[in-house]
Amino acid sequence: MAADLINQKEIVPENYKLLISEETIQKRIVEMGSEIYNDFKDDKPILIGVLNGGFIFLADLIRNINIDLEIDFIRISSYGDARESTGHIKVLKPLSADITDRPVIVVEDIVDSGLSIEFLENMLSAFNPKILKFATLLNKPSKNQIDIPLDYIGFDIEDKYVVGYGLDDTQFKRNLRSIYHVE
Ligand code: 5GP
Repeated sequence: MAADLINQKEIVPENYKLLISEETIQKRIVEMGSEIYNDFKDDKPILIGVLNGGFIFLADLIRNINIDLEIDFIRISSYGDARESTGHIKVLKPLSADITDRPVIVVEDIVDSGLSIEFLENMLSAFNPKILKFATLLNKPSKNQIDIPLDYIGFDIEDKYVVGYGLDDTQFKRNLRSIYHVE
């Protein structure tokens, strides 16, 4: 059976404007992967994907880091279905891996206020990892409320609500291959 997307109905609404194309995302992830490779080639890091938004980025990123690595996931909630951080963060799915004395890279889809990263840094530091670094595909510098120790940033973007490539619009649209902003 022929398998392609050509005959499938378009799911990009008219009020979505292309911000970062699939090709540009993939090129940048190759670069980020080689930065991480250079920093961790003598280690066996654990990459922790932050659910739900970070799962596609994590999947593409690890296939561009050609070293032995583990993955785990954590799920935290701060926004619910809203578009602004409430600042009240809960752990919805804790880590499974033991990260004590291990090199750890937290993989986020997007950093906005930075409160999620601050929360994760406090929480994960308590396990005494050997190294704790943060990677994010997107960063909104104008929204950052705290001095965030981001080690790998894919793209700095303006303060606009973005969707696609794992990022949701009220839980939908995560399956878009490019990143759009909603007008
Ligand atoms: P922060 O704690 O830095 O304010 O927010 C981080 C989380 O908020 C992200 O992991 C993501 O789930 C959500 N978020 C922040 N900005 C956006 C955005 O523009 N679009 C979407 N879909 N989620 C966002």
